[in-house]
Amino acid sequence: MSQKINGVKGMNDLLPGEIEVWQFVESTARTLFGRFGYGEVRTPMVEDTALFVRSVGEETDIVGKEMYTFEDKGGRSLSLRPEGTAPAARAYIEHSVNNQEPVSRWFYTGPMFRYERMQTGRYRQFYQIGAEAYGAKEPAQDAELMDMVVQFLEALGLQEVTLNINSLGDENCRPAYHAKLVDYLKSHREELCGDCQQRLERNPLRVLDCKNEKCQAVAAAGPNVLEFLCEPCRTHFTDLQRKLGALGVRYVVNHRLVRGLDYYTRTVFEFIAAHPALRTASTVGGGGRYDKMMKGLGGPDVPAVGFAMGLDRLVLLLKESGKTFIQRPDLFIAVDETSHDEGLKLASRLRREGLKVDFDTRGGSLKSQMKRADKSGARFTLVLGEQERTSGQAKLKPMAGGDSVPVALDNVAATVRAQPEAPAQAPVS
Ligand code: ATP
Ligand code: MG
Repeated sequence: MSQKINGVKGMNDLLPGEIEVWQFVESTARTLFGRFGYGEVRTPMVEDTALFVRSVGEETDIVGKEMYTFEDKGGRSLSLRPEGTAPAARAYIEHSVNNQEPVSRWFYTGPMFRYERMQTGRYRQFYQIGAEAYGAKEPAQDAELMDMVVQFLEALGLQEVTLNINSLGDENCRPAYHAKLVDYLKSHREELCGDCQQRLERNPLRVLDCKNEKCQAVAAAGPNVLEFLCEPCRTHFTDLQRKLGALGVRYVVNHRLVRGLDYYTRTVFEFIAAHPALRTASTVGGGGRYDKMMKGLGGPDVPAVGFAMGLDRLVLLLKESGKTFIQRPDLFIAVDETSHDEGLKLASRLRREGLKVDFDTRGGSLKSQMKRADKSGARFTLVLGEQERTSGQAKLKPMAGGDSVPVALDNVAATVRAQPEAPAQAPVS
């Protein structure tokens, strides 16, 4: 016997029964992001490794430890994308989009890849849905984007998600903060984890992002980035808060929020869920402003702000909510042994007319088909036998109980549609 081959560790299969939740999240995002004027962009799953090294940053966990990098047959160093902002920026630059319109709003969705330790809500292939607004440096753009995420979470029915915001300053004010932070961290070197002792040399901001409790305690007592902001950065941050207030978007200021990517300037934000099911993977999304990244990638001087939400984590939360997203069949057609062909034809016609119809292609006894009808969760069952075929009349049996409804075989779709939905239905398992 051949040996069974399993999927790759940390990479999940999404099967019917679960995929409906994903589709709900994706279609909600498409509809809502469309209302805000965001058009969809699709970039390849693989990019030149240098793209991520130069934007996300060499010393970040993502690029330094987590990237799937390989050489193709032509000897080029390529990487599976670990995130979506850099690829979208690359496409924006490559297609000179800034010459065609002053402001562009894009969203994307798809798999991302990071070689991480697998846990609840943390996978090696995971999915993000994200959006980027190019060309507007104003805090109103940051606020509009956050409002879009808030409306998205509302539309999903997810409550108890807190928006955290912070400002990291810019090239004028960050160096002073940086110097102060390094001094402070050096004086607490012994209390930091091994990783952070290295980060201290290479990328000290990352220490604030460490998940280790001791490092978090050290960070909490350290210098506050907001006290170092220069005048323009301070104004940007207070304007942003005013606009969020005007929009009725609730937030907390968290001066330790830095995020794990190097490209951010000024605004950074995260949406953090309270639900215990996510354990340490409680951040459902995050983003920020990256006004210098385009230029750093050899592109035009275009400011930008964006975010990415983790779909896997949103789906976990939705599953916890106990809602079902599976669309049950409108009708199950059961047939006697003389009516298989007619049943198959009737099912085909009704599907063309827009009904969701289940039909057991294996045939079998009427009793076994009725069992299958029950399991299918269909609203109605129609039994098609010799008598129904000759009279052209049948009955719709409501599966939730109640009286059967007489129906003409040439008027099934309209009759089904005219029946009021039964109120509470048991979830389909
Ligand atoms: P974390 O701090 O949890 O590692 P991150 O800062 O690395 O997150 P981002 O790069 O900001 O994550 O990505 C945005 C979102 O994508 C995260 O908030 C999270 O919801 C999701 N995400 C990131 N990495 C993973 C992963 N390995 N598995 C599942 N979702 C992920
Ligand atoms: Mg991470």
